[in-house]
Amino acid sequence: MPARKRLFLGLFLLFTFILIVSLALLAYFLVRPEAPLFQYTLILFFVLMAITAIVSLFALTLVIVSLLRGTPPPWLSKTVKKILIFLFPIIVMLGRVFRFTQDQVQSSFIGVNNKLVEAENLELTPQKLLILLPHCLQDEDCPHKITLDPFNCRRCGKCPIDSLLTMAEKWQVNVQVVTGGTLARRAVKMLHPRCVLAVACERDLSSGIVDSAPLPVWGIPNERPMGPCRNTWVSPAAVEQKLEEILGSRT
Ligand code: SF4
Repeated sequence: MPARKRLFLGLFLLFTFILIVSLALLAYFLVRPEAPLFQYTLILFFVLMAITAIVSLFALTLVIVSLLRGTPPPWLSKTVKKILIFLFPIIVMLGRVFRFTQDQVQSSFIGVNNKLVEAENLELTPQKLLILLPHCLQDEDCPHKITLDPFNCRRCGKCPIDSLLTMAEKWQVNVQVVTGGTLARRAVKMLHPRCVLAVACERDLSSGIVDSAPLPVWGIPNERPMGPCRNTWVSPAAVEQKLEEILGSRT
């Protein structure tokens, strides 16, 4: 299993372990007959934590099994994804405690999410796929406004937008350039895709995945050689390879 996914799953395992240890401690206190009021509170905590631990263990087992041995049924992937999205903020907080950067945990989450989207085995036509590109891929000196219509690009080749548009035309898929979550949501509302292929930084990708659920989102993190939000880069070949995997012979 690639190291990128192992971090998220490791933190997830740790979270489940902490829950189970806490349950064991609570169970120990519960057997003491004194202080009945305290006991009722503990019983409530015990039940809540037991439910969370069972759900967490169930999701973790399914994710690991599906990553190691192949693909679970699509309905199961959706359920696991919902649980992961619910637990995601807790896993990020736990990662911080162990001094993992937010980018590392988010990148790992994106890897796990992509695998689960893959497991959904979506039957997609090009028209049902939407490519969302971040505005920061555009050369910062370019005067052309491409967020309203990406085809305002004059195709000078100075930034990856040119090649990405050529690729979108070749595969006949919808493409939009967005400045953030609001424009991304508007594009989804307008075009009604069944799946989104999104390029962005780890932070925007993971929040996009969480916000868009249950809509499946494949995430491709961008490269930021000049720092965040400025002349960022994504390999058009890598995006096309993902397109080929998603659409394959259906085009
Ligand atoms: S490729 Fe398009 S968006 Fe990029 S700099 Fe040239 S005209 Fe501007």
